[in-house]
Amino acid sequence: MPKVKKPKFIFIVGGVLSGVGKGVTSASLGAIFEAKGFKVTALKIDPYVNVDAGTMNPIEHGEVFVTDDGDETDQDMGNYERFLDMSLSSENYMTTGRVYLKVIENERTMKYKGKCVQVVPHIPEEIILRIKKAATKYDAEITLIEIGGTIGEYENILFLEAARMMKLQSPDSVAIVLVSYLPVPAHLGEMKTKPTQHASRVLNQAGLQADVIVARGQMSLDKPRREKLATFCGVSKENCISAPDVSSIYEIPVKMEDQQIGNKILKALRMRTKKTDLTAWRSFVHKIENAKKEVHIAVIGKYFGTGNFTLADSYISVIESLKHASWHQGAKPILDWVDSEEFEKSPAKIKNLKKYDGILVPGGFGTRGVEGIIKAIQFARVNKIPYFGLCYGMQLASIEFVRNVLGKKKANTVEMDPNTSEPVIHINPKQAKNVSEARYGGTMRLGAYDCALRKDTKVHKAYGVDLISERHRHRYEFNNDYRKEVDDAGLQIVGLNPESDLVEIVELRDHPFFVGVQFHPEFKSRPMKPHPLFRDFIKAALNKK
Ligand code: GLN
Repeated sequence: MPKVKKPKFIFIVGGVLSGVGKGVTSASLGAIFEAKGFKVTALKIDPYVNVDAGTMNPIEHGEVFVTDDGDETDQDMGNYERFLDMSLSSENYMTTGRVYLKVIENERTMKYKGKCVQVVPHIPEEIILRIKKAATKYDAEITLIEIGGTIGEYENILFLEAARMMKLQSPDSVAIVLVSYLPVPAHLGEMKTKPTQHASRVLNQAGLQADVIVARGQMSLDKPRREKLATFCGVSKENCISAPDVSSIYEIPVKMEDQQIGNKILKALRMRTKKTDLTAWRSFVHKIENAKKEVHIAVIGKYFGTGNFTLADSYISVIESLKHASWHQGAKPILDWVDSEEFEKSPAKIKNLKKYDGILVPGGFGTRGVEGIIKAIQFARVNKIPYFGLCYGMQLASIEFVRNVLGKKKANTVEMDPNTSEPVIHINPKQAKNVSEARYGGTMRLGAYDCALRKDTKVHKAYGVDLISERHRHRYEFNNDYRKEVDDAGLQIVGLNPESDLVEIVELRDHPFFVGVQFHPEFKSRPMKPHPLFRDFIKAALNKK
């Protein structure tokens, strides 16, 4: 039985174009309601037919964010976790594929008792069931549901229908927030409301009316524009929230709450208004603004030729973690994307890495650019530049060490060379079977696993505990046949999974900071609680200066 008597649901939908910041708006609303003392949870709906984000190309779709329970989800889930400071699970994420899969499974097992199973109502009913299940799981008084994509697209119609059905069942329990874009065409220099008027009308056609409009754009919403929006979109003037671009996303809860967005939504939900305590957020924003001393980090990988725009999305949790860790120490991170293929083409360019205070290799897949990454890792090791390797960055650091310190030049991962004579990183039979049978979806080693730390190491000091839990997403693993000689030679094996004995962390002796982790610590860094390893990596980078 749900503990909360009358749970409330806020749907966040997007108008005009994608990428206007629905995710961050939803996450910020979550932070605001938490700061009012409510129990909150958030769901992301991806209208894709993919069952999860694990099979989507991160360059096109953005980072695959992994939850503790091993779901491969949308990057917005990371924003929710960071802004709400809570861990979410597979209940907080759904895709069209996942919903249909369940309905079809129900049909095959006679759950609908011989009824004709129809797109409407069965699909929206399954969607509603999932939304309510998540609310119940977290005892949420307020559940935020972000519907991906833009209003007017064919693919999110059934999710809007679910919102409409919920509103019909209980009008006071559902509020709609339209996050829309107001362009400022260069030749006019004036903000235009018409596209949002259209978005609002399309929303009306789906049987929904926005309670609040978040007006995103380059500029603030002025009086005439606010009046137009109010008149043509049927929203009160006060409920049009101005949301111009900001320099840091962490300002958004403060900026939106300065306009009382929280209480305006509460009123739409027929709830009593409540005070908001955003003290922590305000001082955090102050800290960001005052972080002046620069720390220069090189992030090494492939695909960087595609440009920063998509990359920032593919590695968003890594970037945010570096920011959290830097701000925490009063520093401003300057990140450079370094394409590893450069070092393959012109080996002399490796010296350019000398100017960085730290080098980071994030997770990755495949063979492209890998030799260049290994060269960069060698440079960091030899020149004592702080190094932090995440997942592939740990595997490749191990290979570099076996090649160049143990002298086994053939050392490799079987991901690069399936027939290598020195498989430092190999694949277990179960995973090999998945690959050979093309069973890729949701079959990696996913989610949270424990890791026991060795005492008197940098990582043990960083965490300050003996046993940690971190999230994973990988198919290949460290080959334990190499463990002893690698450790003896100085790349210490300092973190092991207690059940499987799998190597989780390597740490170089006699180096300011050289740590490789098989997991993804970036998923657990929070704005006001930087991850201990990111924190100490940045600390080492600042010391190098
Ligand atoms: N490609 C490697 C593996 O599958 C590393 C994965 C990652 O970096 N996320 O094991």
